[in-house]
Amino acid sequence: MAGEPQDDCLFCKIVAGQIPATIVRETETTVAFRDINPQAPTHVLVIPKAHYQDAAALAAGAPELAADVLRETRAVADQEKLDSYRTIFNTGTGAGQTVWHTHAHVLGGRGLEWPPG
Ligand code: IMP
Repeated sequence: MAGEPQDDCLFCKIVAGQIPATIVRETETTVAFRDINPQAPTHVLVIPKAHYQDAAALAAGAPELAADVLRETRAVADQEKLDSYRTIFNTGTGAGQTVWHTHAHVLGGRGLEWPPG
């Protein structure tokens, strides 16, 4: 069921503390932790604690929680002292999504080109 923890979900396991992560922020509804394979000096993932498979499912099923995630991307950028940063939700295999629990990438600390690859 949407929002319920999934036994086979890596990020649900991070939320549950079953897999270690370098957590940089946590709220009642979200967790932010460093990406294990950083693509920039700052590369943090912000996730809802509840399981939604992608940003579209989160926006449709829990818009207030989607807003919490977005607010936390800004909070991460402030905490990391980033003037400029990029927030990315990869949605679908063709866009590079590999983990099926909504996550916002927050990237910064270097110049970021446009368009992205
Ligand atoms: P996606 O490709 O947009 O789905 O992003 C998934 C991200 O999760 C990738 O950038 C991975 O490097 C990252 N990742 C995978 N496993 C872990 C982990 O155990 N801890 C932190 N980040 C992870």
